[in-house]
Amino acid sequence: METLFEEVEAALPWFFPVLAFGIGACIGSFINVCVYRIPAGQSIIRPRSRCRVCGQPIPPYLNLPILGWIFLRGKARCCGAPIGIRYPFIEFLTAVLFLVSWLGLPPVLALIGWLWIFIALCVAFIDLDHMIIPDRFSIGGLLAGLALSVIFPALHGIETPFALLGSIGGFFNALTGALIGSSIILWIMILGELVLKKEALGFGDVKLMGAIGAFCGWQGSVFSLFAGAILGTVSLVFLQIVFAVIPLKRPGGVPENFLGKKIPFGPFLAGASLLYYLFLGPAVDEYFASLAWVAKGAVGAN
Ligand SMILES: [Zn+2]
Repeated sequence: METLFEEVEAALPWFFPVLAFGIGACIGSFINVCVYRIPAGQSIIRPRSRCRVCGQPIPPYLNLPILGWIFLRGKARCCGAPIGIRYPFIEFLTAVLFLVSWLGLPPVLALIGWLWIFIALCVAFIDLDHMIIPDRFSIGGLLAGLALSVIFPALHGIETPFALLGSIGGFFNALTGALIGSSIILWIMILGELVLKKEALGFGDVKLMGAIGAFCGWQGSVFSLFAGAILGTVSLVFLQIVFAVIPLKRPGGVPENFLGKKIPFGPFLAGASLLYYLFLGPAVDEYFASLAWVAKGAVGAN
């Protein structure tokens, strides 16, 4: 029997991808609200959007994701204050990631992916702005990941006709991922403090690794940690070179020294976890499986 879902998909192949992009743009708009209001301790539901400069309410048709900014050419209708390009950028980025998730994964995993994209982007941009990762995303993400793993064990590649077995397996996988991810980063933090005599990572990163592990399993959390470190280093060196080469019109003419600055790690962890969930998961899992196989072979040879 054909379901309504399959019928629509067959008759209008563009319908669900366009819907995914549109929903992503709207969620991106909501991410902008969360990133701005949650660190300030404001409600994310009320009041409605207001101009940040003059405080006038923004009519819904000017608040459309991506299009509103283009229509206004980046200037507020009420007072002409410039609206940063970051707002439409986050909306567009979320829309693209939602579309990628929908096109690349089976429907249930795609929808769980949407939730993880939302959590990861909120964490990334809040950490970038304020050097904090709110517990509602890290611990909340951990709990959501555990619950979803029980309901949908397929999140960890578990497929069995026995629902109870699947749920136990899903829960175990999510828990293992959370514990392995947070303990590795905790030990890096402890050893880093011993060696560097200063705090390089925060407990927000440890809790975030718990959430990553619950959604991505131990392979995903280990990958995120190492890929995140590489991404972070490469970005820093890149920025350092760009700012050293390009003479900037800065008072005093001193180039900004990124290497000496405190840099949040959360955005890189979150970005790497999205790479794993949306693109590299199967390849990374296979790599770890081959490592285990090599290790076993080495033991067997003795
Ligand atoms: Zn205004």
